[in-house]
Parts: sequence; C-alpha cells; structure tokens
Amino acid sequence: MNEQAIIRFERVVKRFGDVTVLDELDFHVDKGEKVTIIGPSGSGKSTVLRILMTLEDIDEGVIHVAGKPLWHEERNGTLVPASEAHLRRMRKEMGMVFQQFNLFPHMTVRRNITEAPVHVLKLSRHEARQRADEYLELVGLSEHADKFPSQLSGGQQQRVAIARALAMRPGIMLFDEPTSALDPELVGEVLTVIQRLAQEHDLTMLLVTHEMQFAKQISDRICFFDKGRVLEDGPPEQLFTEPREARTREFLNAFL
Ligand code: ADP
Ligand code: MG
Repeated sequence: MNEQAIIRFERVVKRFGDVTVLDELDFHVDKGEKVTIIGPSGSGKSTVLRILMTLEDIDEGVIHVAGKPLWHEERNGTLVPASEAHLRRMRKEMGMVFQQFNLFPHMTVRRNITEAPVHVLKLSRHEARQRADEYLELVGLSEHADKFPSQLSGGQQQRVAIARALAMRPGIMLFDEPTSALDPELVGEVLTVIQRLAQEHDLTMLLVTHEMQFAKQISDRICFFDKGRVLEDGPPEQLFTEPREARTREFLNAFL
C-alpha cells in the first residue's frame, strides 16, 4: 500500500442494516492524482464519497486522509471517532459536487459561493466576494452573479456548485455523477470545467461518472467497483481496452 496516499481506505466495512455496502474495501488516491470510480448502481461509489465528507460513519476498518485517521483511530484496540477538530479540518480540505446541485435556492449565485468562506473560513465579505467572482469567472458565469439558481439552466447551476466548492480552496475535490441529472446538451459545459480543473497539478480529484470517454481523457487511474470492493484498477488505456476481469468487461460493454 502506497504510504504517499492522501486518501487511504483499509479493510473498510460499511453496513446499512443487513446489507454490506463496503466489504473490506482497500482503496487509495495519491496526492494530485485524478481517479475515476466506475461501477454498477449500488456498488458503493457514493458511499465512499459520503464517508470521506463524514456524511456517513463506518463499521470497521481505517481511513486516513493526509496521513491522519479520519473516522477512527485505534486506542487499546478499540475504535473511536477521530477528534472533532480533525473532522473540521478535513471537511475544509475536501469539496464535493453532488448529482443534484444542492444550491441554496433563496440566495443569489454570488451569495451561494460566499457563505462558506465567510462563515467557515472567516473571510471578510469583501474578500469572499472577490474570491466568488474569481471562481465565477473560472466557470464562465461572471455575468450571472446576481441571479438566483432557478433562473439558471441545470448546467449553469452545476457550474455554480463547482465554483462554490472551489471557493473553499480544497486540496481534494470529490464529484458524484456531476452530469447525471443534466439534459444531454448541457453535459459538455460541465465536463469542460472539470477538465480544466483536472489540469491543475496539485488538486487531487476523485470522480464518480458514467461518462467513459471523459473519464478516459482526464483520469490517471480508473477503479472499477463491484459489490463494495475495487474489483480492478489501472490506467484508463489498460482498463478500458483490456480489462482483466470478465465482470468489468461486461459492465463496459453496456457503454459501447
Ligand atoms: P452507488 O453510488 O454505487 O450506486 P451507493 O453507495 O449509493 O451506490 O449505495 C450502495 C448501497 O447502499 C445500495 O444498495 C443502497 O441502496 C444502499 N444505501 C445507500 N445509502 C443508504 C442508506 N442511507 N440507508 C440504507 N441503504 C443505503
Ligand atoms: Mg451513487
């Protein structure tokens, strides 16, 4: 297992009732690496991201982010939650973009982006506005800053959601099927923005998507999830053209 990994899951088990969703999952992402998770519905992809954002707890195993235990550290052989201070730091370190954009409907676009920098990072309103405008420019929405989410298309809303996550300057960006809720003609504009981010050397990216062509272009590595485990992983050229496992081949064939 790579010691340089910025995200590291070791034998992580997650259950919902009787259902084992992550089954002794071993998984890692290196600093600056762009990793795409693919796999069938229900294989645990979203659960991995939600656990990283501390939106879900785990039942067994260890998760390290930036070298420190995220959810649990072992003391006297028992599992206890990581400290609140560490969880707060880690939540700042990671930005997440969801399938449903989750913007605040009653706030303008700019306000959506300034909220967390003001309240969590304690930036002044002025600094936060400057930062919001910087990221709105990056996603190509400068002229929409004073609109409300409902006045924007789905693609534009998702670009606002990306700007909002970036405004916290996270070292790690998590994307959970960011284009799945969009009409086909709006997918491209969102992928273009994500592609631009993928060119940033320092940013670690973990993406769940069914856009295989896109995943092939931007990813350093593809992980195929099946039944709560990584069935196989590898560079896109290898995994998409000559997967080792029959299950992976079968899954990929559905996209041809
Ligand atoms: P994926 O993103 O790969 O489609 P998920 O990680 O969302 O899969 O879910 C994996 C499994 O866990 C699914 O069977 C799903 O129904 C179940 N699951 C997810 N969240 C919950 C929850 N809050 N309560 C009960 N079951 C859940
Ligand atoms: Mg999912």
